[in-house]
Amino acid sequence: MITDKKPTIIPITELEQSAFCRSDETLDVKPLAQEFAASVRWQDIPVEYLHMEGSELTERIGKARRILGNNLVILGHHYQREEVIQFADVRGDSFKLAEHAASLSDAEFVVFCGVHFMAETADILTSPSQNIILPNLTAGCSMADMASTEDVLDCWDDLNTLLGDDGIMPITYMNSTADIKALCGRNNGIVCTSSNAQRVMDWAFQRSKRILFLPDQHLGRNTALKMGVKLEDMVVWNPFKILGGNTEDSIKNAKVILWQGHCSVHTRFNLNQINKARETYPDVNVIVHPECTMEVVQSADFNGSTEYIIKTINEANSGSNWAVGTEISLVNRLAKENPDKLVFCLDSVVCPCSTMYRIHPAYLLWVLEQLVDGNVINQIQVDGNTAAQSRIALERMLTLA
Ligand code: SF4
Repeated sequence: MITDKKPTIIPITELEQSAFCRSDETLDVKPLAQEFAASVRWQDIPVEYLHMEGSELTERIGKARRILGNNLVILGHHYQREEVIQFADVRGDSFKLAEHAASLSDAEFVVFCGVHFMAETADILTSPSQNIILPNLTAGCSMADMASTEDVLDCWDDLNTLLGDDGIMPITYMNSTADIKALCGRNNGIVCTSSNAQRVMDWAFQRSKRILFLPDQHLGRNTALKMGVKLEDMVVWNPFKILGGNTEDSIKNAKVILWQGHCSVHTRFNLNQINKARETYPDVNVIVHPECTMEVVQSADFNGSTEYIIKTINEANSGSNWAVGTEISLVNRLAKENPDKLVFCLDSVVCPCSTMYRIHPAYLLWVLEQLVDGNVINQIQVDGNTAAQSRIALERMLTLA
């Protein structure tokens, strides 16, 4: 059995980041061997899966799925490509999928078509008898990788030494490893998502005068600003510098300490793209995700979680125009499902989330056919202690939702 107790981190390189960016606006599936030709390093897979065309993959995934019946649930994140998301029993953002995972009790096998931290969360929230499977173990998240356990523990020690009993509470975005969620659980902290970040921060400020927000500085900053925290009351913690690059006084005076992490997908959006969209379509509505930079979020007409973006566009008036600042697979799907509206990505170069993209349908087929043969591969298992502490932080969030 191929299991994964510790994340298999294969960092995104500049090359991989741009390897799947295209200007022809199509991301149709190619045989895995052709994707590998872009010099990417993904999980090894039996050679028979490397050259299968999309049509064969689709047919065989459907067949394996029918054989596995109700023993199997496939969860799919909105940023997955079409050839994968079409098989999802439930689609959602990380929050919706976490809630759904917590409600599962029948399915023996949960195949998570998302990234590593999402599969870890599903393992924490489901019963020990359920098996959580990530089709490609190298499908991580570049943002989550920016907050390594060692660096965050060092930061937490430094802050506690400096602040003593003066109080600081850790909040971690869902997009973080189980180790970071566990740190929050054992230190009175909590998890948040982009759907509930404001509610969670409000909860935290009722209990602590200072917050350490991990790992996305942009979600933390944008949320704190919405709540009236001033920019000068926030500092950024750079894990490669002493005291995160701050003075003792600036930390003592801060209300929010933002970990220096970001999403490589959402930080591609900029003011020039917004200006260009508005020049081209003067009545355009600009809607972005709060992982975008402060300037982009403040210039947009609307901002919110993935589920908020989907709901807003689906419910918008026919004939309205939408320039969207989020992951391209989702934007393309929204455009297809809303043919009465103009929906387009703010960024004219089509760049998917490179780590979500690692869930190629060949990997999905491989893990399903192994299940049909009685083999559980690519199982994600969080160790008992870490899972228990993470669950505390996750359940604090779920009871607030
Ligand atoms: S879109 Fe950004 S935050 Fe989401 S999985 Fe991809 S890299 Fe991580």
